[in-house]
Amino acid sequence: MDCIFCKIANGEIPSKKVYEDDTVIAFYDLEPQAPTHILVIPKQHITSAADITSENSAVIAHIYEVIAKLSKDLKLENGFRVVNNCGEDGGQTVMHIHFHLMAGRKLAWPAG
Ligand code: 5GP
Ligand code: ZN
Repeated sequence: MDCIFCKIANGEIPSKKVYEDDTVIAFYDLEPQAPTHILVIPKQHITSAADITSENSAVIAHIYEVIAKLSKDLKLENGFRVVNNCGEDGGQTVMHIHFHLMAGRKLAWPAG
């Protein structure tokens, strides 16, 4: 499958990794929108949040455990935001589910 995040997950495309285990990988976003901007993805291909089912949801729960761990390891004690863009109106540009972990500046709300 021609999916850039599958290729990052299997090492075909290099990335600046911050975390990896059997099911999840986290790496720095190429175009950071905040001083800390990390993408956390499942290694298995799930297209978007609209494709989460009882069969694959365990890895999504695990992603949030990884995010909590990263927030401690990277000392994001001032807070952070987790963003999951889904579909065209949600602004999703890479069709492999990913969670943006953003921190290091005051983030505006509501998002535009
Ligand atoms: P989306 O707009 O789908 O929510 O987010 C996709 C994100 O992936 C963007 O923030 C974009 O900068 C990032 N991105 C796209 N291609 C690559 C890549 O090859 N490497 C890395 N590290 N980030 C990427
Ligand atoms: Zn993929």
